[in-house]
Amino acid sequence: MNEDLMRAALDAAARGWHVFPLRPGTKRPALHGEKTCTRTGPCAGGHRKWEQRATTDPDRIRAAWSRAPFNVGIATGPSRLVVVDLDVPKDKNSSDAPCGATSFGALCERAGHAVPTTYRTRTASGGTHLYFTAPEGVRLANTAGTVADSVDTRAWGGYVVAAGSTTPAGPYEALCDAETAALPAWLQTILQPAPARPVGPLKLPAVDGSRAALAALEAECAAVAAAPDGLRNVTLNRCAFKVGRFVAWGDLPRHVAEEAFQAAGEARGLTAAECRATIRSALDSSLRTARPREAA
Ligand SMILES: [Zn+2]
Repeated sequence: MNEDLMRAALDAAARGWHVFPLRPGTKRPALHGEKTCTRTGPCAGGHRKWEQRATTDPDRIRAAWSRAPFNVGIATGPSRLVVVDLDVPKDKNSSDAPCGATSFGALCERAGHAVPTTYRTRTASGGTHLYFTAPEGVRLANTAGTVADSVDTRAWGGYVVAAGSTTPAGPYEALCDAETAALPAWLQTILQPAPARPVGPLKLPAVDGSRAALAALEAECAAVAAAPDGLRNVTLNRCAFKVGRFVAWGDLPRHVAEEAFQAAGEARGLTAAECRATIRSALDSSLRTARPREAA
């Protein structure tokens, strides 16, 4: 057991990834936290957390993993990795929460790209981690739900559990031996933090659109603003789709709906690119399927 985990840690380090021990059988760091720091040893000059202590040094790795069957953490930031985490919803009966692989696949399709081929692992919960090398000169942080629903990313400030580790839920396994691909540019655009926008009350134009259409637009934008973290993109999609029929009927100019949803989606923390793609796809599909007003 120790041997296998030590081998997993050394293999990850051989790829240039900075590893640190996780408590045996868990996903939690085995290193002490700041509160319990004794300011000795590696922390003599001040507390150093797992991200700073993670290493590629085989001697340090052998010394650490000879002490206990630690799981293997990879600190993504210093490893120059961006890992896309395609999660599986815990409640499989919930129709609201899509699985990350589905929403990421849909995003790739909308962006006009295949799902990238790269080193990937299967997580204990049945999810998938896609590994990418981080772009030069950009410091990307973790994201949750920014790329798509149930899709998180780990970069600076984050870590992933490496292949070879095991938790009571199951093992982490490498799915293929592919090289780690560079982060696709279109994905980087989505991950780069958008400049902060002031969040003010939604202002709708006074003249464009019927009263019913504007009331619907206002209500649906409010729903986007109140969307739960994991469902922002799903909510934006559903709300824009609902308003689409007013656009189809000629009650509301399309650009008015687009601008209002764009502002609401960005204020809720989605990226500009993601809002645009989701709104366009939702309105297109709503316009295609809208029934005539009499029948609705
Ligand atoms: Zn310390």
